Amino acid sequence: MTEYRDVWDLESIFAGGSSSAAFQARLEKLQVEIKELAAKITTWQADVAGLKEILTMMTKVDQGLEQLSAFAEALSSADVTDSQALQLDSQVMALIPEYSQVNKEFQRSLAQIPATEWGDILADPELSKVAFVLGEYRRDGANFLSATEENIIAQLKLDGQTAWSRHYDVLSGNLKVNYGGKELSAGQAFNLMMSSKDKEVRDQLFEKWEAAWGQDEQLYADTLNHIDGARLTDQKLHGVTDYLKEPREYNRLKQATLDQMWAVVAQNKQPFVEYLKRKAQLLGRQKPVWQDQEAPVILGDFEAKHYTFSQAADFIMTNFQKFSPKMAALAKEAFEGQWIEAQDRPGKRAGGYCSSFPENKESRIFMTFGGSVNEVATLAHELGHAFHSSVMWDLPHLNQAYAMNVAETASTFAEQVVNDAAIASVTSKEEKINLLDQKLQGAVAMFFNIHARYIFERSFYEARQTKTLSPAEISELMVKAQKEAFADSLANWHPHFWAAKLHFYIDDVPFYNFPYTFGYLFSQGIYARAKEVGGNFEDQYIALLRDTGAMTTEELAQKHLGVDLTQADFWQAGIDTILEDVKEFMSLTEEYVK
Ligand SMILES: [Zn+2]
Repeated sequence: MTEYRDVWDLESIFAGGSSSAAFQARLEKLQVEIKELAAKITTWQADVAGLKEILTMMTKVDQGLEQLSAFAEALSSADVTDSQALQLDSQVMALIPEYSQVNKEFQRSLAQIPATEWGDILADPELSKVAFVLGEYRRDGANFLSATEENIIAQLKLDGQTAWSRHYDVLSGNLKVNYGGKELSAGQAFNLMMSSKDKEVRDQLFEKWEAAWGQDEQLYADTLNHIDGARLTDQKLHGVTDYLKEPREYNRLKQATLDQMWAVVAQNKQPFVEYLKRKAQLLGRQKPVWQDQEAPVILGDFEAKHYTFSQAADFIMTNFQKFSPKMAALAKEAFEGQWIEAQDRPGKRAGGYCSSFPENKESRIFMTFGGSVNEVATLAHELGHAFHSSVMWDLPHLNQAYAMNVAETASTFAEQVVNDAAIASVTSKEEKINLLDQKLQGAVAMFFNIHARYIFERSFYEARQTKTLSPAEISELMVKAQKEAFADSLANWHPHFWAAKLHFYIDDVPFYNFPYTFGYLFSQGIYARAKEVGGNFEDQYIALLRDTGAMTTEELAQKHLGVDLTQADFWQAGIDTILEDVKEFMSLTEEYVK
C-alpha cells in the first residue's frame, strides 16, 4: 500500500510561511488591482467591452483576496502560536471595506442600465453565461440608497451590528463553568457535556451550563436585541419589511421551498422520537433529555476500528471509485500532492475545513486525524468540498460562487459514501450500533435542533419588530420552539440556548440555520438518486455541481434531478433513506431493552 504524508504543502502556494515575500508581493499587487478596478468602474459607459474588462479585473481581485486570506488562515490553523500569520490575515482584511464599496458601486451602475439596453448587453455570448449572477447584482443594486447613505450605514455598522457581534465573542469567551475543581471555558464545558460517556457528568454539566448562560442573561439579551434590531432597521431603510427576504435571496430559494421542506420534516418526526426514546432506554433513562443529543451509545466493550492515514486514503479512494472515478482521481491528486494537513500534534486549531487557492486551482484540507471511522468520514467530507471546487475551476468566475444551502452538497455526499461503507465494514454489532447512532444524531440535529433554531428566530424577529425582549421573554420563545421542534419528546429543555448558541450572533449572515437542514436533505436526495442510477450518475452529478453557482436552487433541482422543490416528494425521498437507518438501529438494539 502507498504511504501518504499527513502534513500539507503550503510552500507551493507562497514560499516562506508567515514571512513569505511572495505573499507580500501579491498583497501589494492586489492593492493596485483594487484601485484600478475602482477607476474603471467609475468611468464605465455601460458598454459591453468595458463590462467584460471589469469582470476580468474583478476575477483577479476576488481570486487574489481568496488566495491570500486562505493562506493566512492555513498558517494560523496549523500553528496557533504563529502571531505573524494573524498579521497577514489582518493585512488582507484591511482591503475588504474599500473593495466592498467598489462592488456596491458596480452593482449600482448595473442597476441603472434600462431593461432594453440590458437585454442587448446579455445578447453577448460570453456575458449571457453569467446573466444570472449579473441579474442578482442588478436586483441588489436597485435597492441601494445613495452612495453617501450606503457609506454612512457601512461606517456606523462597525460600531453597531458588527461591534455587538464581537461583544458576544468577548462575553462568551469570558464564560466559565466550574466543574470537578476546574474552571472550564464554554467550549471545554460543551465538549465534555455532549460527549462524556458518563451520564452523571452530562447531567451535572448541563445544569451548570444552563445556569452559567443565565447568569449574564441581560447582557446576552441586549446583544441579541441590538444585532437583530439593527438588522431590521437596516432592512427597513431599504424598504424591506420581510426579514426572511435577505436569507432567502442569499440562499437563492423561494419561501414555498423552505416551507415545504419544514412541513415534510414536521410530518416525519415520530420515527425519530422513537429512536430518541430507544436511545434514552439504552442510556438508562426514563425519557430522552437535552444533554444526551450527542451522547455515545456504548454497549459492552468493543474494540473500535482504527485506520492509519494511508489506510484511510486507500479506503476513501476505493469507495469514491464506486460512485465516481473522477472523484477518486481528485482524492488521489490531493493525497499525492500533499493537500492535506491531518497530523495529530499539539498547537493546531480544532475542527476541519477545506479552502480554495484559485490562483493554483488547488485546494487544501485542514483537520486532525486520529484514526476513527468518524475521522475517515470527515476526511472524505473535506475531499468532497475539494472535488466541488475542482469541477468548477474552468467556469466563469462569477458562476463559481455557490450559496450556503448547496455548499455542503458534494461534501455531505462524499461523507455519506464513505461513512456507509465504513459502517458496513465493521464486524462488531456493538460498534455498528454506536456508528448508526452517530449517524442518526446528525439527522436529529438537522430535523429537531436546527428546526428549533429556525422556529425561534422567526418568533424572535416577529416580536422584535415592535419591541425589545426581556431575557425571560426570549427564554420563553426558545422553550416553545424546542417543544415544537422536538415534538415535545424531551424530559427537559434548554431555555438559554439562545445565549449559548453562537449562530444567533453572526452579524453578516441572518438565519444561519435552515441552510444546514436544506443542504443535508438536498444531498440525501442526490445520494438516493446516485444509488438508484448507479454507474451513469457521475456525469449527471458533475453537471449539477457545475451549475450550483449559476441558478436558483429550484432551477438546479429541476434541471438536474427533474424535481420540484416546492413539492413534498423530493424531501420525503431524502428522509426515507435516513428512516432505513432508524429501522436498522431499532432492530439491532431490540435485544438490549428487553
Ligand atoms: Zn463542509
